[in-house]
Amino acid sequence: MVVELVSVGTELLLGNIVNTNTQYLAEKCALLGLSMYHQVTVGDNRERLSQVLKTALDRSDVVILTGGLGPTEDDLTKEVCAEVMGSSLEEDDHTRDLITEYFKNSIYKEIPDNNWKQALVPQGAKVLENHNGTAPGLILEKDGKTAILLPGPPGELKPLFEEQVFPYLQERQPEVIRSQMIKLCGQGESQVEDKLLDLINGQSNPTIATYAKTAEVHLRITAKASNEEEAKELLKPVVKEIKNRFGNDVFTTKEEETIEMAVVRLLKKHELTVTTAESCTGGLISGRIVNVSGASEVFREGFVTYSNKAKRKRLNVNKSTLKQYGAVSKQTAKEMALGGVFATGADVCIAVTGIAGPISEGEKPVGLVYIACYLKDKVKVEEYHFKGNREKIREQSVVKALDLLRR
Ligand code: ATP
Ligand code: MG
Repeated sequence: MVVELVSVGTELLLGNIVNTNTQYLAEKCALLGLSMYHQVTVGDNRERLSQVLKTALDRSDVVILTGGLGPTEDDLTKEVCAEVMGSSLEEDDHTRDLITEYFKNSIYKEIPDNNWKQALVPQGAKVLENHNGTAPGLILEKDGKTAILLPGPPGELKPLFEEQVFPYLQERQPEVIRSQMIKLCGQGESQVEDKLLDLINGQSNPTIATYAKTAEVHLRITAKASNEEEAKELLKPVVKEIKNRFGNDVFTTKEEETIEMAVVRLLKKHELTVTTAESCTGGLISGRIVNVSGASEVFREGFVTYSNKAKRKRLNVNKSTLKQYGAVSKQTAKEMALGGVFATGADVCIAVTGIAGPISEGEKPVGLVYIACYLKDKVKVEEYHFKGNREKIREQSVVKALDLLRR
């Protein structure tokens, strides 16, 4: 079954409001296993709305329209729908009673005349009671096509959809769509795609989609099936194969888990505490770790040692090291990590020193970053050459540091 979304409202076209209804409905429809090929936004204009609706009904089985059900002149959705689907408007007694009831409990003394417009419904339509406003939702069926009309305010739309539209669609939709997330760090998007080319080209169910994030690549594997079990069975071998191909580059298979959450989870599992010694990231790494609830079990304190003096005083980095190799060097990163552990007694320390730019004071290039990780008497130091502006370089440093920490 193919579903299409039509958002009605000039304020959407002008960018005055963000179209959160579309995001909400798209997510729900995907969960229902409905196919969606188009989402359209149209202003409060009779001719253009009519045109958009005709096109939508032509190419989709179900069209969900949102907005324009209010009492004012520019609210046209119901009228246009009735016209396009060849139905006339008639007053619905029950809706009239509900409007009366709604206003009894409101601040208004009298019911504004134009509100009675909302009691008009297209002949033969199924009326969806709206407990949070005066405009009812409507379902109109004609020649195998369905139009579902919902009020624009999210506070009205969501409960209406959840309670009445979701079950209606579920009953008519025999398929489910389930997806599995795999998140990787350590490879670029094209590298990842190259390694999956045979899988991506070779199968249409499940499908594999890649999304590039800062220093991460996310893969969404999506299967369509007649039931939950079958969908899971379809996903299983593909997910297993991908995990095999990327090994330790995979940091999670949970949709909601971030890399810092994975880090905290692993530290907890191994009962390790961590400290941070940050220069160019200026506390961003500790910030990300502390963002994870339950981080206090693994993180007690960290250092932001931006100047050479701070590196010496707080982390005991040797003056001669700084002089001979510079603050941005493998040696300094290593001593920062050792200093962090020595000063705090933590089991692990992640240290970062680099040149975030936009200008480099010495000969070393912008984007040069050293990340050191101390664990069990060993310090591992990695050298990176990041590209992008100051913000991007710092962001990549944070993700790579978290990645090094979890490995
Ligand atoms: P009303 O009875 O309030 O007029 P309506 O069904 O006519 O409701 P609109 O007039 O189109 O809907 O929109 C009313 C309000 O609902 C907007 O001002 C906006 O705050 C919100 N809204 C409408 N469409 C969307 C959307 N697609 N995403 C998020 N909010 C929306
Ligand atoms: Mg309105």
